[in-house]
Amino acid sequence: MLLDHLKRAAAEREAQALTRRRRIAHTACAPHQSVGPLGETPASLLTFCSNDYLGLADHHALAEAMADGARRYGAGSGASHLVSGHSIAHAQLEERLAQWLAPSIPNARALYFCTGYMANLAVLTALGSAGATLFCESLNHASLIDGARLAKADVVRYPHGDVAALGDQLAESKSALKLIVTDSVFSMDGDIAPLSALLALAETHDAWLILDDAHGFGVLGEQGHGVLEHLGLVSERLIYLGTLGKAAGVAGAFVAAHELIIEHLINTARPYIYTTAAPPAVAHALLTSLDLIEGDEGHVRRAHLARLIAQLREGLGALAAQAGWELGDSDTAIQPLIVRDNALSLALSAALEAEGIRVGAIRPPTVAAGTARLRITLSASHTEGDVHRLLDALTRATAPFTQRDSASVDCKEAA
Ligand SMILES: *Cc1c(COP(=O)(O)O)cnc(C)c1O
Repeated sequence: MLLDHLKRAAAEREAQALTRRRRIAHTACAPHQSVGPLGETPASLLTFCSNDYLGLADHHALAEAMADGARRYGAGSGASHLVSGHSIAHAQLEERLAQWLAPSIPNARALYFCTGYMANLAVLTALGSAGATLFCESLNHASLIDGARLAKADVVRYPHGDVAALGDQLAESKSALKLIVTDSVFSMDGDIAPLSALLALAETHDAWLILDDAHGFGVLGEQGHGVLEHLGLVSERLIYLGTLGKAAGVAGAFVAAHELIIEHLINTARPYIYTTAAPPAVAHALLTSLDLIEGDEGHVRRAHLARLIAQLREGLGALAAQAGWELGDSDTAIQPLIVRDNALSLALSAALEAEGIRVGAIRPPTVAAGTARLRITLSASHTEGDVHRLLDALTRATAPFTQRDSASVDCKEAA
């Protein structure tokens, strides 16, 4: 019965071009990556789909720091943080992260988690108790959606970027604790939430702002300290989540917030308490990652990334206009080319791959039905030549779809 059911579900996914398949990388995360099945010679692909925005994931200094951490602390932590797994490397990392966020969040402390997914479950379930209300942005990341589902709080959703609608919802609410929950940089769209306006609403309505800066930490702000530095926001009402497996190039996440909030998470958040602490070596490597982000190298990498983003947007804008597609309104390293149709997004992704270029086709349920897209992400490790190659290949891949009714396609079909 179960297997019959699953077979039908798989056939349905296949019919809607929604089947997901994993690919095997044979080399480190980098623009040029070898990809292919086990036991076969992998193909070398120029990739535009990682979240390694600064190109730190295969940085020799981080690999060396990870090895150094393993020599000092071994491979595993051995237990959860509250039992015996909390190491000096974790504590040093939390202290550094708290210092980074303290200019934006007075009295901030930081708490390190194994993953951003767990950190979001932890914050929303620990703070979203019965009687509270979570006001959730409609394009929030799946981990925030799942956290809201698990929380005992009431959940209200507001439309993407709609500050006025949220204001109305807050004004009507009689809830004892109001928590606004949003991505800062939207993961599939690349646009930035109107955080100044959201924070002003929080101040007006005695609410708190939980913000997930997975795609801003390390890349945004002069020092790479994230979206709060970028926008110059300061408030004790901010509850900040940054992830450390994207721009920071390693793994894990952290929450920075008022010390009483952090103390509450340590004591009550089940996704924090009931899991083995990340290997101390990972936290040790992250200390080096923070040095790189904040140092000269980080500045150079962010400046280079900004140039690549401008170059890509210029090319994609022309292409989207010609094909009748939509280029997302994004200034970040996430550039979505919204082609709408699931099968078309897959066909374009396949056409690029035939030219040795890897770009992810993002389909429902990750994005809304009818908004399938190529999600192109840039890294500071890309060169201008890489971006040029992508634009060239995309122009060729797009041609059959922009000239659907023209004679040239008929000729090709006849040939
Ligand atoms: C990737 C991501 C997460 C999850 O972080 P992990 O460390 O990968 O678990 C959370 N929120 C957003 C917006 C993300 O993009």
